[in-house]
Amino acid sequence: MTELTEKIYYADQNILKRIESDFELIDRKGWYILYRNKTDNSYWRLDEWDKLQEQFFIRLESSENWTELIYEKLKMELLKSNRGTSNQKCSWKDCERNALTEMAICEFHAYTEMGIRK
Ligand SMILES: [Zn+2]
Repeated sequence: MTELTEKIYYADQNILKRIESDFELIDRKGWYILYRNKTDNSYWRLDEWDKLQEQFFIRLESSENWTELIYEKLKMELLKSNRGTSNQKCSWKDCERNALTEMAICEFHAYTEMGIRK
């Protein structure tokens, strides 16, 4: 099994399988589930499943305040790497970022203005 080297993943079938085999459930609160990696003891947070929301699996620095942490930036980076970018500039006024592939706007505006997560 390859190591999970990223800080954030979409909780797809592969990731859910990895969680089942390589992680131990530690706590469950509100919208989140806390896991510990059996190999390196790192803490990870999974979103509870919700048919209307994209589910993320995120590596935490520690188990402190684990339900309070917000990872907007990481999620935007993941959106960007998932979709890729084109050479076009984002069409949002005064935005200097490149637009996402086959879209007119960047990851920031897709995320914050359109609610796009994946
Ligand atoms: Zn933009």
